[in-house]
Amino acid sequence: ILASKIYANRDQPHFKSSALDGYAINANDLQPGAELKIIGQSVAGLGFDGKVSIGTAVRIFTGAPVPKGSDHILIQEDCIKSNDKIIINKVFDKNNFIRPKGGDFKVSDCIDAPLKLNASLISLLAAMNIATVPVFRKPIIALIATGDELKTIGEPLQFGEIWSSNTISIQMELRALGFEAKDFGIARDSLASTKEIFGAALAECDVIISTGGVSVGDFDFVKEALSEFKLDMSFWKVAMKPGKPIAYGTFNGKPLFALPGNPVSCLMSFHQFVRPFLLQTVKYPKPFLAKIQAKLIEPITAKGSRLDFRRMILEERDGELWTKETGSQSSAWLTSLVKADALFPIPPEVLEVPAGSTVILQLLS
Ligand code: AMP
Ligand code: MG
Repeated sequence: ILASKIYANRDQPHFKSSALDGYAINANDLQPGAELKIIGQSVAGLGFDGKVSIGTAVRIFTGAPVPKGSDHILIQEDCIKSNDKIIINKVFDKNNFIRPKGGDFKVSDCIDAPLKLNASLISLLAAMNIATVPVFRKPIIALIATGDELKTIGEPLQFGEIWSSNTISIQMELRALGFEAKDFGIARDSLASTKEIFGAALAECDVIISTGGVSVGDFDFVKEALSEFKLDMSFWKVAMKPGKPIAYGTFNGKPLFALPGNPVSCLMSFHQFVRPFLLQTVKYPKPFLAKIQAKLIEPITAKGSRLDFRRMILEERDGELWTKETGSQSSAWLTSLVKADALFPIPPEVLEVPAGSTVILQLLS
């Protein structure tokens, strides 16, 4: 994210240039049937040294400097060329097809910060010959998985074991946002292992993201380990679905997000909490998932009591956006999240949303 204002150091373009391929002429000659003598050409990067006067034309190409004396570019399709002459056959536009000096930006024009350094902004900076800009420092992020059943991808599995997909999903989400986490591996389901890995991450990193081990099972050691570290716990458990077992606190001012272990819950709580938090640390102006409006294809019923995030598919029908659920909404089934284009947050007090209702969704990018 661009961290401070940038001022243009020149006009773009810094000369009047042609917007298309044609002939640089004097606008007073713009009459059907007029015959003009071609006296030279203006090529991009070179230009033409002479002057266009009444009755003459200069062959010109897109981006080439407009010669002196010319105030109109005749589209090449609007004339017929014969030897060193052109005859104007049509006049259908009052547009002179000249890009004015400073048309895109002028010296001292300002790019406001903060602003995301996306392809178009970087392209604009390149057009200004600016190769280095101040940005906000990204936090150093630690990623920790927890669970005796977990193996690293590529390792063979024993009965009852699974591959740690959360490690990858969170890393991918972080990368998509421009962050990168240091992987601290898998904490085993013991207080000693949990404390060791969390201790190492807290010592080295600015933000800690862990997954699993924060439910109320006998093998959920994260909360216990963190209380031994005297973590200042802000909340544990949120009335949302999926994603209820999430803990957030700070240790010496360092934020720690303990996300749920279930793969879908893990990503859901990442989207709702971690993503906006991290984007705000780098002053990203739009930290929350974008909202869009769509109409429900089928009715949806809810059980109430928790904010219920449904995985939704978007479909365009006759220029309108429609939406339906991806299928099973189990917090363990990644296959139903993979199909989702958006999330539909159903407030706890809503038990039924009829077909045809207009609903507000969070767009998954
Ligand atoms: P837990 O919160 O540790 O009880 O985990 C809840 C569920 O999520 C269990 O089925 C775990 O096996 C699963 N789980 C936990 N961590 C991961 C992970 N890193 N990748 C995939 N699944 C996980
Ligand atoms: Mg576990």
